[in-house]
Amino acid sequence: ATPTAILVGTSMGSERGLLIKGGDVLEKVHQLEGVIFDKTGTLTVGHPTVTDCISWGDIKPESLLQLAATVESGTNHPLGLAILEKAQQQELPLLSARDFYTEAGSGVQAQVEGKMVWLGNQRWLEDQGLSLDKNHDKLIGSLNRAGKTVVYLGIEGSIQGVLALKDNLRTDAQKTVSKLQKRGLEVILLTGDHPEVAQAIASQVGITQVLAEIPPSGKAAVVEELQKSKKVAMVGDGINDAPALAQADLGISLQGATEVAMETADIVLMSNQLWDVITAMDLSLGTFRKIR
Ligand code: ADP
Ligand code: MG
Repeated sequence: ATPTAILVGTSMGSERGLLIKGGDVLEKVHQLEGVIFDKTGTLTVGHPTVTDCISWGDIKPESLLQLAATVESGTNHPLGLAILEKAQQQELPLLSARDFYTEAGSGVQAQVEGKMVWLGNQRWLEDQGLSLDKNHDKLIGSLNRAGKTVVYLGIEGSIQGVLALKDNLRTDAQKTVSKLQKRGLEVILLTGDHPEVAQAIASQVGITQVLAEIPPSGKAAVVEELQKSKKVAMVGDGINDAPALAQADLGISLQGATEVAMETADIVLMSNQLWDVITAMDLSLGTFRKIR
């Protein structure tokens, strides 16, 4: 395509709500052979809500929620915000706490009223020396299979209970995935969440290839591995997606994503609609097919 054609394509993109950063971007779109989607905030809307609050320790479910909200009080992670919102709805005041610490892709911790409290995924709590009793496997399995993200609350040395959170799928997630597959692209789900939750979400949108429990530091490496056999796009919204967005042949983010994701991406879907991945593809095909 001529530079003029590319310019026209890029400006048509902006009319259609696509922020295309640079003249070489559009050409890459029709060469893609695979698309990798992040889960939370990308395939899902990114506004989870707390559905279950289960305590098996000495504390009441309300206290569990109150402690969880307290350790999340400094966070802007979607799970943390949902927990804070739930505590607020139940009019549970935050407790006094200090020494807040966040481990990206794992969880948060703080000293609350003199006790160390952890909230995060199972692996991270186990790394901290808090183990989960096998008695709870069945309960947790059923929450996971319902597509709910489970976070574990540990106080001092033991896990006291869990919170489960559910996030809705974007309304156009399924049709976008299926369109990409019909066009012969491989579609992959990449997430830091638990494999069973990832699988539940994947089957709802028709994705068969799932890469779960990938820490933030590992997402870019996964993309690099996939690039050995394919040209791939990464679609993501989180801070932890930024390195993968940069690594991919094409990074795509959404309006309303974290700033660093939008900055790193080659294309930003200003409409905040996943379907515009298809719009970008059509525009690229149109621009580069015509001229040859
Ligand atoms: P995703 O890849 O789905 O965007 P993240 O990489 O941010 O998810 O987090 C992976 C997992 O780590 C979450 O599913 C959750 O179990 C845990 N986690 C991360 N951040 C937090 C937090 N602020 N509070 C509780 N759990 C968290
Ligand atoms: Mg995300």
